[in-house]
Amino acid sequence: MPIRYYSTNRHVKQAAGITPFTGSVSFREALLAGQSPDEGLFVPDAIPRLSMKDVVALRDQPYWQAALLVARAFLSEEFSFEVLEAIVKDAYNFPVPLEAVYPRAFVLRLDQGPTASFKDFAARMMARLMSHCRPEGERLNILVATSGDTGSAVGEAYKGVDGIDVTILYPADEVSLMQKKQLDTIGGNVRAMCVDGKFDDCQNLVKEAFADKDLARFNLSSANSINFGRILPQIVYYVYAYAQLAGAGEEVVVSVPSGNFGNALGCEYARRMGLPVAKLIMPTNENDEFPAFLETGTYTKVSPSRACISNAMNVGHPSNLARFFELYGGTVDRTGRVHRYPDLEEMRRRIFSVSVSDGETRQTIKSVYERYRVVLEQHGAVGWAGLAAYQKKTGDTRLAICLETAHPAKFPDEIKNLLGIDPEPPESMKDLAGREGSAINLSRDFASFKTYLQAHLKIKK
Ligand SMILES: *Cc1c(COP(=O)(O)O)cnc(C)c1O
Repeated sequence: MPIRYYSTNRHVKQAAGITPFTGSVSFREALLAGQSPDEGLFVPDAIPRLSMKDVVALRDQPYWQAALLVARAFLSEEFSFEVLEAIVKDAYNFPVPLEAVYPRAFVLRLDQGPTASFKDFAARMMARLMSHCRPEGERLNILVATSGDTGSAVGEAYKGVDGIDVTILYPADEVSLMQKKQLDTIGGNVRAMCVDGKFDDCQNLVKEAFADKDLARFNLSSANSINFGRILPQIVYYVYAYAQLAGAGEEVVVSVPSGNFGNALGCEYARRMGLPVAKLIMPTNENDEFPAFLETGTYTKVSPSRACISNAMNVGHPSNLARFFELYGGTVDRTGRVHRYPDLEEMRRRIFSVSVSDGETRQTIKSVYERYRVVLEQHGAVGWAGLAAYQKKTGDTRLAICLETAHPAKFPDEIKNLLGIDPEPPESMKDLAGREGSAINLSRDFASFKTYLQAHLKIKK
């Protein structure tokens, strides 16, 4: 039986102002729709199991083999083996290093993709799945509003992908020069639009476009982070890392620096697929709504979110919390309102969370470099600090894997200040200065955006 996907809001009472979507959809439908009509998140009705034999057989195999194993477990009823194999081989053509910090503690570096952040892993696979799923003979037009990193990861991921065009809107004054360069120079089927306004203006333009009847014929689609098509690829690297490091059936602990919880959710699914993850450690920065919830049992979002140096994690109400609650028997909606609380004791048994301050983050970058000569940037350092806090509290000495989610060379000033070194950029960032390309400038009013789209978007392949 193919896996079906239903909404995290399906049990919500009408009286709460949400009309719950009580049906279910296929993976393809979930992928193209992005989110459920009731603004809930799509979740699978069953989680497939992996056999330990298949997992350990991945040792010393290329990364795409792990991706194929996970993709087949979820998708084999909807995609042929050949299609999935072609997709993962094409998506994962870069290294995935595991760096030993001390015996039995490793950093999994997810920073070698085209935009040097872990978001490349999900975006590249999702782009190829979407290309395969689009309506026959037609093009898909992806619209993304970005405040920086997500846009370039999505843009690079869809670059050259058959039958899909991407339009990225970013706020003129809220992206760094390096981010602007990354966005403006992707080229090909990816166009960048520099909006005279803030991130919210970009988001509003995209929202209005989706709601506009005249634009409906352009097959508009989103590539947002709540799409289940972005969660699935994030299961893979846990399986891959486990296979490289652990003995068959050995228990491990995994630390995932967390913002919107999509990355950590991948680990939660990997565990439920049978990976022996004894504890999932989910450190946050000073946006401490989740560790506070685990401690007190009451959930209160942080609003507005707090600005920390691990800026990709400045989230006061994680979008994927709805999926975590669901997995533990609870319901929370998009606004942060809890309709039913999850099993708190079970969550505490499986998950450890702690809030890491900017001061502790910087101290961690320094001490890890001084003690081990391992360079972490601020997101990975939150992960490491969380792991250290967990080990100190529990004395747990099991094999530990900590994720590094971005490359230190993306934050040269912070690293230079703390460590006095210039981190060596990865291949993908080396030629950035010499790249050509420019953005289309746009005012923040919808009429001119619409006129532009009507003149430039294509429908037929
Ligand atoms: C997006 C991001 C995170 C947070 O990941 P979530 O899946 O949102 O929890 C952490 N680090 C970096 C570098 C990111 O870009």
